[in-house]
Amino acid sequence: MTKGTQLYEGKAKKVFATEDPQLLIVSYKDDATAFNGLKKGTIAGKGVINNKMSNALMRLLEKKGIPTHFVEQLSDRDTLVKKVQIVPLEVIIRNIAAGSFAKHYGVEEGTDLACPTIEFSYKNDALADPLINEYHVMALQLATKEEVETIKTLAFKVNEELKKFWASCGVTLVDFKLEFGRLSDGTIVLADEISPDTCRLWDSKTNEKLDKDRFRRDLGGVEDAYHEIMKRLEEHIAEA
Ligand code: ADP
Ligand code: UDP
Repeated sequence: MTKGTQLYEGKAKKVFATEDPQLLIVSYKDDATAFNGLKKGTIAGKGVINNKMSNALMRLLEKKGIPTHFVEQLSDRDTLVKKVQIVPLEVIIRNIAAGSFAKHYGVEEGTDLACPTIEFSYKNDALADPLINEYHVMALQLATKEEVETIKTLAFKVNEELKKFWASCGVTLVDFKLEFGRLSDGTIVLADEISPDTCRLWDSKTNEKLDKDRFRRDLGGVEDAYHEIMKRLEEHIAEA
């Protein structure tokens, strides 16, 4: 499968058509953005790590019965995926208070939540991805009630599997963002990526941040953190 027309260039990836109308190639870049694009930078080698990590985690989730868009890794930065119509929601699951949740609700970052939570943001850069609830999702016809139920069930299942896997690596899964899409027959599958760009991952012993917060918050050691988290994954993925 080879890259055809470039369909889209996003903040972290490019998307290409292929000979097969049902398949796309996504190509991971080293570009990093934060705060809805206000902060821009480069994280050397990030594209390679995010591509490989996302693919390894999607393979793991498929093994556990969660349908994903993943088809085949083509190279260090390029992956063949099933084309979906993206449901324009950022689906955020949280196990521990951090980031905007800690700020909105006045909870100290690092506080364990009594149960995992879910929230939706409307994926719309012009509106800065506002928070919306399930009724807004249905009223705006972003997804049906049935699709929302499927997305919630899948997202919590992803959380259980990823929490378990990262714990085996000595890493705490604090929170993460997922995107879902519809295949041509309407089936909802997990799409986009799962990487240190989209998850908060803390060392279980020291709570050291091994994710994009090092870039967002100018903590230094950004590249080292991406390499460290990838190394942990590679050491443990075979037995997962
Ligand atoms: P953004 O659009 O937020 O800048 P990216 O740079 O990651 O994000 O761009 C990748 C784009 O591809 C995103 O808009 C994402 O929703 C979309 N996408 C991810 N997986 C698929 C897929 N399987 N089919 C179609 N689009 C996808
Ligand atoms: N996240 C993401 N893309 C976004 C917003 C959030 O991948 O556009 C991820 C982020 O990496 C974190 C989780 O979703 O793991 C929750 O982020 P939060 O709402 O706390 O936002 P932030 O603090 O990044 O503004």
